[in-house]
Amino acid sequence: MRAAMAAAEVGDDVLDRDPTMRELELRVAGLLGATDALWTPSGSMGNLIALMHHLGRGDAFLAPAGAHVLDNELGTAAWLAGGMPRPLEHDAGAGKVSPSAVRRAAGGESPYHALRTTLLCLENTHNAAGGAVTAPDEHAAVVAAARGAKLKVHLDGARLWHASVALGVPPAALTVGVDTVQVCLSKGLGAPVGSVVAGSAEFVADARRLRKMLGGGVRQGGVLAAAGLVALDRIDRLAEDHDRAHTLAEGLRDRGWQAGVPQTNIVLVEVADLTGTVARFEAAGVRAVPMAGKVRLMTHADISDADIATALRRIGPIDGATAGNGGRRSPVRPGRR
Ligand SMILES: *Cc1c(COP(=O)(O)O)cnc(C)c1O
Repeated sequence: MRAAMAAAEVGDDVLDRDPTMRELELRVAGLLGATDALWTPSGSMGNLIALMHHLGRGDAFLAPAGAHVLDNELGTAAWLAGGMPRPLEHDAGAGKVSPSAVRRAAGGESPYHALRTTLLCLENTHNAAGGAVTAPDEHAAVVAAARGAKLKVHLDGARLWHASVALGVPPAALTVGVDTVQVCLSKGLGAPVGSVVAGSAEFVADARRLRKMLGGGVRQGGVLAAAGLVALDRIDRLAEDHDRAHTLAEGLRDRGWQAGVPQTNIVLVEVADLTGTVARFEAAGVRAVPMAGKVRLMTHADISDADIATALRRIGPIDGATAGNGGRRSPVRPGRR
C-alpha cells in the first residue's frame, strides 16, 4: 500500500482533479451502483456532507438508535447540518428498523407548526449493534417505506463491505433506492485515511462544494487515493476477518465470557464492570473499546490467527487473574478499527 502511494500519479484535486482520486471515485461509484462519487478524508465527513445536502435547518431525521451519525460524530448532524435527531428502536432485529416504524415516525400531514421529517439515515453494518447486517430484502422494504413517506435516504455504509461479504451479495445490492451512501476505506480494509460518498451527479457537485467548506479539499490526493485503491482489492479477504471474529468469540465463550455470535468482524462482550474490564484487557496487552455498554473487540487487516490466539491467552478466563501475562509485550490491537 505504501509503495502504491509513493508511485501514485497525481494532479491538484482542488483545481482540476487528481487522476488517481478520480479513478478511485469512479471505481467506488461502480461498486455501489451510483452515478458518481467523491472522496472524503473521513467517514464522519462523508456522512456530514450527505446530511448537510439533505437537511434544512430544523428538519428532523430518523436513524436506528446508536447510529454513528447520532452518537459518534460529536453532534455535527445538529451543529453543522441543522438536523433534529430522532432515534428509532431496533424493532426489526439488531441494528434494524421496520418499515412500519419508519412510516409511523415519518408522520403524515400535520399542522404547519409540527416538526418536518425529511430524511432516513440507515447504517449497514450497524456498528454499535455489533456489526449487525441488514439483508437486501429488509433494506429494500425499509427504503420503500421511507420513499412512500417522502423521505430522502442516506446509508452510512462505513462497513458496507463487511455486510456484502457476510451476505455474499455485491455491495450495490445493499444500496438499492438510497439517495446517498458513504463507505469507509479505512476500517477493515486498512487504508490510513479515506472514505467515499456516492450519489447522483447533482449530489456530487454539491458535495464537492460542501467538502471544500469543511476543509476537506486536498491537492495531490492521489497519494491517499492510491491507498484506497489497494484497500478495495482487499474486500474479499474480509471473510477471513469474520472467521477470526468467530474464533475470538468462541474462545471467549469457552473461557466463560458472555460474547455474542458475530455477524461480521465485531465481537461485543457483556460484562458487569465495563471500565474495569477494558482496563484489565489493556493491562493484559489487548486493546478494546467500550461500545453500547459492552466491550467491543475487532478484527481487521492487521490481525492474524496468531494474534487471536495471543489475545485469548492474554485475556484468559473470566474469573482468572491476569496471571501469566507479566512481562513486556507489544500490544495486539483488535480495538483500533
Ligand atoms: C467508523 C464509522 C464512521 C466514521 O468513520 P471515520 O472515518 O472514523 O470518521 C461512520 N459510520 C460508521 C458506522 C462507522 O463505523
